[in-house]
Parts: sequence; structure tokens; C-alpha cells
Amino acid sequence: MAKSKKWVYLFEEVAEVEKYAGSWDGVRGLLGGKGSGLADMTRAGVPVPPGFTITTEACNEFRKTGKFPLDMWDQVLAALKVVEQQAGKKFGDPSNPLLVSCRSGAKFSMPGMMNTILNIGLNDEVAEGMINLTGNPRFVYDSYRRLVEMFGTTVFNFDDELFEHPLDEYKAGKGYKLDIEMTAEDWKALVAAFKVAFKKQAGFDFPQDVFKQLELATKAVFESWMGKRAIDYRKATGISDDLGTAVNIVTMVFGNMGDDSGTGVAFTRNPSTGDKKMMGEYLLNAQGEDVVAGIRNTDQIENLNKTMPAVYHQFMDITGKLEKHYKDMQDVEFTIERGKLWMLQTRNGKRTAKSTIKIAVDMSNEGLIGREEAVLRVTPEVVDALLHPQFDENAKKTAVVYAKGVNASPGAAVGQAYFDADTAEKMAKENKQQTIMVRPFTKPDDVHGMIASQGVLTSEGGATSHAAVVARQFGIPCIVGASMIKIDLENRIMEVDGKVVREGEWISVDGTTGQVYVGKLPTSAPSLEEQTDLLTLLGWADDIAARKDIRILPDGRKAPGLQVWANADYPKDARRARSYGAKGIGLCRTEHMFFETERLPIVQKMILAETSAERTGYLNQLLPTQRKDFDGLFEAMDGYPVIIRLIDPPLHEFMPDEEKLFEEVVTMRVKGQTEGLKEKEDLLASIKALHESNPMMGLRGVRLSIAMPEIVEMQVRAIFEAAADCTKRGIVVRPEVMIPLTGTVKELEWIQPRLIRIAKTVTEEKKVDLPYKFGTMIEIPRAAVTAGEIATLAEFFSFGTNDLTQMTYGYSRDDAERNFLVTYVAAGILPRNPFQTLDREGVGKLMQMAINDGRKTRPDLEVGICGEHGGDPDSIEWCHMIGNNYVSCSPFRVPIARLAAAHAALKYSGQKIAEDK
Ligand code: PEP
Ligand code: MG
Repeated sequence: MAKSKKWVYLFEEVAEVEKYAGSWDGVRGLLGGKGSGLADMTRAGVPVPPGFTITTEACNEFRKTGKFPLDMWDQVLAALKVVEQQAGKKFGDPSNPLLVSCRSGAKFSMPGMMNTILNIGLNDEVAEGMINLTGNPRFVYDSYRRLVEMFGTTVFNFDDELFEHPLDEYKAGKGYKLDIEMTAEDWKALVAAFKVAFKKQAGFDFPQDVFKQLELATKAVFESWMGKRAIDYRKATGISDDLGTAVNIVTMVFGNMGDDSGTGVAFTRNPSTGDKKMMGEYLLNAQGEDVVAGIRNTDQIENLNKTMPAVYHQFMDITGKLEKHYKDMQDVEFTIERGKLWMLQTRNGKRTAKSTIKIAVDMSNEGLIGREEAVLRVTPEVVDALLHPQFDENAKKTAVVYAKGVNASPGAAVGQAYFDADTAEKMAKENKQQTIMVRPFTKPDDVHGMIASQGVLTSEGGATSHAAVVARQFGIPCIVGASMIKIDLENRIMEVDGKVVREGEWISVDGTTGQVYVGKLPTSAPSLEEQTDLLTLLGWADDIAARKDIRILPDGRKAPGLQVWANADYPKDARRARSYGAKGIGLCRTEHMFFETERLPIVQKMILAETSAERTGYLNQLLPTQRKDFDGLFEAMDGYPVIIRLIDPPLHEFMPDEEKLFEEVVTMRVKGQTEGLKEKEDLLASIKALHESNPMMGLRGVRLSIAMPEIVEMQVRAIFEAAADCTKRGIVVRPEVMIPLTGTVKELEWIQPRLIRIAKTVTEEKKVDLPYKFGTMIEIPRAAVTAGEIATLAEFFSFGTNDLTQMTYGYSRDDAERNFLVTYVAAGILPRNPFQTLDREGVGKLMQMAINDGRKTRPDLEVGICGEHGGDPDSIEWCHMIGNNYVSCSPFRVPIARLAAAHAALKYSGQKIAEDK
């Protein structure tokens, strides 16, 4: 049995918790987000109802043993005594009763995923006593029926239907539409009906012993940590199962005590746009969940200024202080009980990608946080989400809007409509369909359907309803409260003014504007230029990474962090990369230029040429177009380095498909067509001759250059002729010629001097002087291992981690992903797909070794990466740690990489580069 310790802390004991936990993060871990927030607010003098927190440590003990730890319950009872004194009320005393809530609260917010039980302490006697005290039987019976209902559904997991059915039936019998029409007598009748339903299901009476109520509720909250909903949510968000939840026992305050009472939720800034304006909703004469559930139509928070101006001003003052205190946008819950304001919760609010960036930038400009903190608050995923597609503006102009609702989470989603979470998830996972989940409103057990869907649409609820909050967190486009839509769950249809959409039909949901369309609307990528806050933030990120003392080299010299370059083959890609902030081209795959329709026939003839002279003839035809390609690239990247990789793939990739050609030849033979047959037969024979069993390990890269030097000789001539022409036009050109797939320095010894001779000849011919480099890709393990030798010739390295991963693991990169890789990751044999995220222990280690050895030979060796990993934040961090100068990735990922480079720079600021030991 666990030894006795302090399991329970009053809100005002926060200093003691801090001492025990060692840090505020430790306090959050022990008391949970809600508990630590309440304690912190209490300390700051914010009006918080008296209460205490049972720690997450107690939850973890309970999970192990199924019992409360020793002494915990005694500590609860002792704390309750203090709370009774503070509140001036007594738990279970009909003459002056204290009611409490029992609320879950883990370190990281898991909205609605665990249990909360309100109004604990009510029983038949207490109810009578409260009626005498308040003279408000309607409120008392309403509170009592809520307790019976919550006890049944959350403590005993009874179906909601058990209580919803009698309520609906009762209302129908009376001809009521809304709960607000229910009178005291009606609620009294409902309490009786609920108690009967409870007993029928449970086999025993609803507990009248208030301490038993508290004990059962506390257990239920602990148990809800391991409930399916909570586990699913933790899996989706990466929260550890070991953290446990705390339990907060808080004095109940009532928003449903008449028209001078109310309850609401608010964000201190707009969580959708980030605008610095309070956004919230409240309801008079209501209890908390009425607002969040989105069942009753709420009032905007500004209107509170009209109904209760003093409370409104106090509220604005407190929330302003809370924002300053936490230095972040707050999501608060409050209740007004007979004109007195109580703050029930504050936490850092969930927000969209757009508002994450705007709030970080604004708060830094307001002096609330520094620029480093602003940069750290934005994760690379947030930037990714922001650059996600939007609906094409032109298409929207002509499309007919089917319905309109609240724009709860931005972005464009296209999918087939499904009317429940299970079906949406099934269609998405099993049938690989794009789905939109459509519901009247959502509840926590709908989250799996939301996560699996492209978008979410509800006909009820506001901007703080469950659907809205969850969708924003996961970056799922979402519209809520599209109230003109009638959803018929039984017949699986929705309807607006007679226009019916059946389950499975395509719809398009614009979470940015709140508009719904029938059918599939085309989407387009947003332009970065318009996102001024993101541009500002990325500028700060670049400044951080460019600081001169971010890294310490092995020889003690100081160096900046990573630069971000881009992989671009065409001038238009290079221009985009540059506009996205790339500081160079790290890879131009020249072979792509050979595939263009008018060039391919010449390329094919060049490959099939029988003599060097014949080949050179065709290459001379290609030279002017290649020169033009490079000219465009240099112009686009004026002032920046451009790495041009010489031809890499095996030659058969340029030839017609062998199987198809064979079929054509056979058909011609069968039909007796002789015209052109001989040419096709010859072509087929040549293609067969080029056939290799393992082409990725065959005649490609530098091997091909050695077998047919004429091709790369033409390419180098084109590069330097273009560079010289550009230089003459005043463009600053920094070409770097990259030789692919080197495995031994001998290959470089064979090819590189010939190529340098061409570069010299051309620059002399053209009478220009320009800086250039010759270097190689490191994409074969042997190259990494012999990097010291390779660096005697190579003036730069660029890690081709696509091939390096392929060859280190021995996994075919074209096949592994659709064969065994998924199984390997699922079985935990591989932690992640190594083609997406660098394998630090294997491939990463080779890189580290190559950098060390390479720089021993050539201290100023420039090192980059141009495999897909160059745009992956985790891999970028590794590149920072081992001393890369830059990472190069696709133009679209450049903003993400810039941010990731800054994050790595801050995380390891001033640290020595990690040397290979
Ligand atoms: C690589 O191998 O990582 C690389 C960039 O080259 P490619 O993908 O063209 O083989
Ligand atoms: Mg490669």
C-alpha cells in the first residue's frame, strides 16, 4: 500500500504545492490545468468559489490499486470542512447546504473527454431546505434532476436516453418546446421520474447520503481517465496515459437562480481570427453546460454590458488581468450568482492556425512576450495548416451557397456527407473516402468521426460549442449552427428549402466563411504574400537562426544556425521558393528538363547514338535549351547560390515503356504492318539492352557520367555559358555543380577535373570571373564512410537522404512504402517512416560521420541536405545539431523549415555541434 502523503490541496495552498512540485509545470502536472488555474486565480485575488484539488498522484494510485490511497479520503473530508467555513455553508445540512461540483482536470486540456458531476450534496431533505432558503423551487428541482441525470450517465454510464426520453415525453405532453418553459412543479415531477428511471436501471435508489455521492463521483472522475473517449483523445493528441487526472471539488455557484444570474464562456481574443477583441457567449438563468452544448441560443458577451454593466466591467477587468498574468489568450468560464461574478476556470485557449500566429505576433508587439517566445509558440504544423488549400475564389463566385453557418474553424473541406461519427470514420478508414461529418451538434464521443473527416458541419451550436472547439484544435475546417439545415438522422438526409442532400453525396464546406456548397468545389493554395503576420513571424525566425553565435564548431569557432534553401527545377519554382524565403537552390534535378515533350525525342536519340560524335550532335541540339533553363534559374535566384545536379536517373527512364512497345510490335507483326516496324523493333532491342535488374543501383548518377561523359559535359557547358551571360547582364550568379551518387573518390577524380576544365574554358572564352563550386551528393553509405577522402575534391556535400535511407536500410524507396513499411511502423519495428523522418541512429549517424570527416579535410566544407527530410521539422533539428549549413526542401515547405530551423536554434542555442564519437 502506498505510504501516506498529501493527496489534497486547498486552492489557497498553491505555494505549498509549488514547493513540493518544484516548478509551475510540476504544479500543473500535480493539480492538472484546471486545478492549478483555480489555485493560481485564488492567489491572484480573482473571485473563485472555494474548493480543493485531489492530485493526479492520487489518480495514478487509484489506477494501480482500484482504491483511494491511504488517508486520501480523510484529507478530502478535512479540506471539505475548510471549504464549509469559507463558504459559510455545510455539506448535507438542509438548513444551510453546501453543494459542490466534482470536476476532472488533467495537465493538458482534454475538453469534454472526462467526467464532471455538478450539484453534489443534493438529496430529498437538502432540496426541501434549499427551497425554504431560496424561495425558488424551480431552481432547486432543476438542479436536483440534473444531479440524478449526471449521476446516472457519468457515474454509472447509463445511456443518455434513460433520462432524455422521460423529459421529451413530459415536454411533449405539456406542449413545451424549450426547457425554460418547465415550471417548478414540472421539474419536481421530473425528479421523481428520473429517480424511478435510475432505480430501474441501477437496481438501487439514487444515493441520499451526500458523502457517498461525493465518493462515487470522485471515483468516476478517476475512472474516466481510462475511459475510451479519453484514451482515443490522448492517442490522437499524443498525451501520455501516465499523467492521470486531478479531481477538483469546488463550491457550486448557480447561474440558474433567476434573471440576475447567468453563466458563460469567453475567449479574451477571437480564437478564429486572433483579433484583439473579447469573444464570448452567455445565458441568463442557466447552468454551464447549457452554453457549451449549444442547445439554447446564447447572447454575445457585449450584451452583458447592457444587462449587468457592473458585472461586465468587473469581468473585463479580471480577464484583462488574467491575460497579462498568463501572457496568453485565455478561455474562461464564469457564473453570475445573484449579481455576483465567479470565475470558474481559465486556461490558454485553443485556437486556429491563423489566430495562433496573429496572437503570437500581436502579443510580442504589445510587449507581453518576446520575439523568441512568439516564434516558439508557433509550431511548424500550424504554418503547414495555414498554407492549406482554400476554395478557389472564381469557383466560389459561380457556386450556389446551400447553407450558411458560423465559421468555426477555417479551411476548405470537400467530402461525402455522413450523418454520424461511426459511419464517417468507417467510410474514411475502410473505404478511403473523403468525408464530411454532418450532425445537429457533436458530443465528446463523436470526436473519432471528426478526426477521420475532412470537415465538420453542424446545424446547431455557436463558436464555442463542442464541435467548434474540437475542430479548431485539430485544424479541421468546421461550420456550426447552420440552422437552416434540417437534418433527418432517421432517413439519412439533410434539407434546406426542399433541396435534399442524401448521405454519401459530395459537399464542400468553407470553414473560413461559414458557407456550405453541394458538390465538389476546386481548391487552391493560399498565397504567403497576403499573410502578413506569418511573414513577420518568419522574419523573426530567420533573425534567430542567423545569429552568429548559435552554434559552436568543433574547433571552437562560432557559427549561425541553419539556412533554408529549396529544391526547384524551373524558374517559376525558384521564384516561388524565393518569395517563400529560400536563401538558395539546394537541388535542381536537371533530368526533369529532359522530359519536356519537344526535348524527349532528341534525348532518346542521344541515348541510342552509336558513336560519341553522333551523341554530341544531339547534345548540341539540347545545349541551347539547357542554357536557357539555367539562365532562368540564375536570374530568379540573383545573388543566391544555385546547386545544379548533373543527370542522375538510369537511362531507361527516358525511353518508351518496354511492355507497351512490345505489344505494338506484336500487333504490327500480327496485322502484317511493315511500315515503321523495323524502327520499332530496333528501339525495342535497344531498350532491352538498357534493362537492368536493379536500376536504382545500376547505371545512374556519376556512373552514367563516366559511361557517357558527353551528357554532363554538355550540361556543365550550359551551366557556365548561362552563368557568364547572366553575369554580363549584372546578375550575381553563384553556381554549384553537384555530382550525384558518388561512392568512391576515384569517381570524382575521373570526372571532376574534366568538368572543371569546361568551366574554366567557358569563363575564359566569355571573359567573366565568377565564383563557383564543384561538389557531390552523399547518398551512398560508402560515400559517408569515406567522406574525408571525398572532401579532398568535393567543395560541398549535400545529403541525398532519399537514397541514403534506401541504401542504408536496403529498402527500395519506390516499393517499401506500399509494402511492409506500414506494418513495420504499426508493429513498432520502426518508430516512424524513415523516408519521412530521418533515422538519427543509422542514417543520421552516417551523416554526422561524413560531416566530421569531411570538415577534417576541408574545414569550411559547405554541407546541406536535399532529400525529402529537408522539410521535416524533426529531421531539420538533427541537421542543426550535426552542423549542416542549410536544409533544402520543396518551395511549399520553406516556411515550415524556416520556423523549424529557428526552433532548433533556440533549443540548442550556443551549444557545440554534436560530434560523432
Ligand atoms: C536523394 O536521394 O535524397 C535525392 C535528393 O535525390 P533523388 O531523390 O533525386 O534521388
Ligand atoms: Mg538521390
